[in-house]
Amino acid sequence: MTSTAPRTEPDCLFCRIVAGGLPADVVATSERAIAFRDINPQAPVHVLVVPRDHHGDIAQLAAADPALLADVVALADEVAGEQADGQFRLIFNSGPRAGQSVFHVHGHVIAGAELGWTPA
Ligand code: 5GP
Repeated sequence: MTSTAPRTEPDCLFCRIVAGGLPADVVATSERAIAFRDINPQAPVHVLVVPRDHHGDIAQLAAADPALLADVVALADEVAGEQADGQFRLIFNSGPRAGQSVFHVHGHVIAGAELGWTPA
């Protein structure tokens, strides 16, 4: 028998949001991922797409469960279609020097405006 309980880390902020233990403005869900608005939005649409299972960053997720990474991307696409015009930027910060501050992998869906390109 396989377990359907998500992999969780007790001290992880996003695991607590996934479990419903912390409030979040959830805009979309799928069986294995959820999407909620960033608390400090940087664009008209700024939504975080998070796998329910805990993985530290995008490379770890891709290595451990590539199908789950595909689910995250599919939910990001759905959010962009529902919240904006379907066009979006999807950003995965990976590591503190790249700006990652929450170590549960999440894609930033940025949309709803004409986007410039200033990554650094
Ligand atoms: P990172 O810096 O790891 O790429 O992105 C983490 C994001 O999580 C930041 O954009 C930050 O604003 C957001 N964030 C941090 N704490 C919370 C929270 O408690 N709720 C929500 N919705 N977003 C959060």
